[in-house]
Amino acid sequence: MIKSRNLVAILLTASLLINGSCVKDEEPQYLIDVPLQEYFDRFASEAALRNVVIDYKEMMISGDIRVISTPNVIGQCGHTEEEPNVVIVDKFYWDDADELEREFLVFHELGHCALKRGHIDDSDIQGNCVSMMTSGTGLCNINYTTATREDLLDELFTF
Ligand SMILES: [Zn+2]
Repeated sequence: MIKSRNLVAILLTASLLINGSCVKDEEPQYLIDVPLQEYFDRFASEAALRNVVIDYKEMMISGDIRVISTPNVIGQCGHTEEEPNVVIVDKFYWDDADELEREFLVFHELGHCALKRGHIDDSDIQGNCVSMMTSGTGLCNINYTTATREDLLDELFTF
């Protein structure tokens, strides 16, 4: 889950856990919303560069852009019967976010859904988060730029 107030992203530990009871005959489809596809593809490419194999079908990961009604929440990794592993991105945040904000959000949620990572809030001596998996509760500052991206991606995939 990611929460945000304006440009300061606040990330909270959470994932949706909803247990249903219906049985489906059909093969489930794990769909990735079209605007998210390039970010999912890029996540898999960056993973491959670091010898991590990402197969969304195998992992049953889907991706949805929708309105998240919980205040300040901009992203979640959810688990339901129909969508066992779904990256949910808030439509309003997405529409206003820049390229790096979008990438950070999707990669953070895929860190939960695809890499099964939890949150880490360690900071460097300048107080910046050492991981994209920060909970965003104010323990470190998110500093995701073209200059810090490579190191943060290394940490994301080779923790
Ligand atoms: Zn999170």
